[in-house]
Amino acid sequence: MIPLKNLKLWLFYSSAICIFLVSFSSLVAAQSVAFTFDDGPNLIETPRLNPEQRNAEILKALAKHEVKAALFVTATYGANQAAGLALAKAWGQAGHALGNHTMTHPDLNSASTSLAQYEQEILDCDKIVSTLPGYQKWFRYTYLREGNTTEKRDGMRTFLKQQGYRNAYVSLDTSDWRLDEKLIEVLNKNNDADVTPIKHAYLTHVKQRALAYRLLSQQLQGRDVAQVMLMHHNLINALWLDDVIVMFKEMGWTIVAPATAFADPIYQLMPERAAPGQSLLLSMARSLGLGKFEGWARLVDDGDLEIEALKAHGL
Ligand SMILES: [Zn+2]
Repeated sequence: MIPLKNLKLWLFYSSAICIFLVSFSSLVAAQSVAFTFDDGPNLIETPRLNPEQRNAEILKALAKHEVKAALFVTATYGANQAAGLALAKAWGQAGHALGNHTMTHPDLNSASTSLAQYEQEILDCDKIVSTLPGYQKWFRYTYLREGNTTEKRDGMRTFLKQQGYRNAYVSLDTSDWRLDEKLIEVLNKNNDADVTPIKHAYLTHVKQRALAYRLLSQQLQGRDVAQVMLMHHNLINALWLDDVIVMFKEMGWTIVAPATAFADPIYQLMPERAAPGQSLLLSMARSLGLGKFEGWARLVDDGDLEIEALKAHGL
């Protein structure tokens, strides 16, 4: 059951969206997706490619397909040092957007993270990102968690508004980080290992999530929303982002700039939940009381099925 208060709120937002719908849908004919990369630039060492090479490979794949994306900066992962700042700058110079993903990646849902601390993390990160070309007042919540208390949730919503920031929602959540962990684990054992099965597992995973979130969008909104996909600044994308882009093109999807996707009115919504977060679409489903709807488990399993299937390849 949907509590009456939530239902009223929902109906208000739904009617507001309908007004925008006709004009917006004429702009976006095919299913579209924008690419966003969190936790970057990341200066950790990985097998096969060093941080500069990983950054260059991701930018090369985007440039090859003329895709404009967004990088969400976690400053202590690299951008607070000259070497990392140069990598972030390369994104802006290539025409990509740069957003804010805190200084140290704290978890707002943790009892040990106060609202004031979290806000300070954003202000400190802003001081760095605001010096870069491509700077946008876009905030991506760490772990996609918007606070475990009403005070934090509403406090952040007020804070972002006061600062002129938008919540840079994700609609299409992937567990690229999990498959990246697996890839690094395998290569750390043997740098010459055949990791082709991991590439196929990654592509299978992204496609499954894309189709599932498209279906959820149709169920919730009666239309294809402009999807915003979450990936990370990591080795798996340095190696195979080109394949991901080719796959979306073969699926008939159009890859749009993040600013284009964020113009979809769905990204103005603020789901009425006690502890909102995750994909906006999943959060909406839960706000509506859908709970464990058909297929929900595959949206939150962190790629378990694909990881399990790799065992058949001895990985
Ligand atoms: Zn993150």
